[in-house]
Amino acid sequence: MTTTKINLFDFDHDGLRDYFVAHGEKPYRAKQVLQWLYQQNERNIDNMSNMSKPLRQRLKEETCTTLPEVQQEMLSKDGTCKWLFELHDGNRIETVYIPEAGRGTLCISSQVGCALDCSFCATGRQGFNRNLSVSEIIGQLWLATNLLAANPETRNQRVTNIVMMGMGEPLLNYSKLVPSLSLMLDDRAYGLSKRRVTVSTSGVVPAMDRLTNDIDVSLAVSLHAPTDELRDELVPVNKKYPIEQLMGACWRYVQGERRKRVLFEYVMLAGVNDQPEHARQLVKLLRDFPGKVNLIPFNPFEQSGYKRSSNAAVARFTKLLTDGGILTLTRTTRGDDIDAACGQLAGDITDKSKRYIRFSEPRFGEQFR
Ligand code: SAH
Ligand code: SF4
Repeated sequence: MTTTKINLFDFDHDGLRDYFVAHGEKPYRAKQVLQWLYQQNERNIDNMSNMSKPLRQRLKEETCTTLPEVQQEMLSKDGTCKWLFELHDGNRIETVYIPEAGRGTLCISSQVGCALDCSFCATGRQGFNRNLSVSEIIGQLWLATNLLAANPETRNQRVTNIVMMGMGEPLLNYSKLVPSLSLMLDDRAYGLSKRRVTVSTSGVVPAMDRLTNDIDVSLAVSLHAPTDELRDELVPVNKKYPIEQLMGACWRYVQGERRKRVLFEYVMLAGVNDQPEHARQLVKLLRDFPGKVNLIPFNPFEQSGYKRSSNAAVARFTKLLTDGGILTLTRTTRGDDIDAACGQLAGDITDKSKRYIRFSEPRFGEQFR
């Protein structure tokens, strides 16, 4: 049965307020609903006891609180947890929780698949199907919080940090991304600090500028190459928004705020982008920029055609960057025994005919010109 009901998980505070006002209710109902959903973890409208019975009845008739369904939960030997969620149309997405000393990071998906087709990414190889709704994005956080609490092995774990680094390019689902981020930051919902919520993008420049203006979160940029020639090959969206334009958007993001930095992600591909000349070019590109570089060990998947850089190559690369004055970290690979590491998320796409949609085609999500 198709439901035409409004999903309360599809709105941030202002969206809910508009809904209530349009239905002749007081604006403060929005805050009450947010607190029930995200602070009390209560999604049964009957139990929202500070609202009158007639109002609850009306909400039950007109709205729902539907979320994706858990299909599978996998716990890695290093404590990383991965969930496979099924959406109402049969598509599946993955969400990963990574516990570390003093914090717990949730890696959230923004699309089913991805149209940007980076050559080293399992999600990109799989193609694009559709954007996620707000309830499907924020639902990953809601479900992860509640599933962690429900499992005796993970009940002490908390989500303290969010990275939009799961399946998909978040900035190509802009109109659903921003209300989801707003719920993460909103004190009436999750109340996370802007330093703990990170959006990762492969460089959709116009949307980066919009984000800078619309909402204050941390920014990670998937750079992966110091020159356009190499980046065109690894991250095809570079042909549309080359490095100079990308760096321009990064400058506009940090402008005016001394504490702001961009995190540049750089996947280490043996013999492809991990040579001393690449490190030197990277130093030249980033020397004056308030950012840091996060070197990511490549996580292999079937028929990727790439190999992970050796430890020696990573150490040499790190030294060249550090000597050049660039703050450099290496990401530890987590959860690779359950295919939960960066770039290994594949979910399951129902409609494989959309496999070869490319970023240049008009259907790949929202357009930015
Ligand atoms: N689309 C966004 C966010 C999702 S990808 C983006 O590209 O930034 C999250 C990170 O994982 C990106 O930095 C991406 O380049 C990296 N990644 C993709 N495939 C990978 C792989 N096979 N091994 C390691 N990192 C990978
Ligand atoms: Fe899409 Fe990011 Fe994968 Fe590139 S790395 S294909 S942008 S999910």
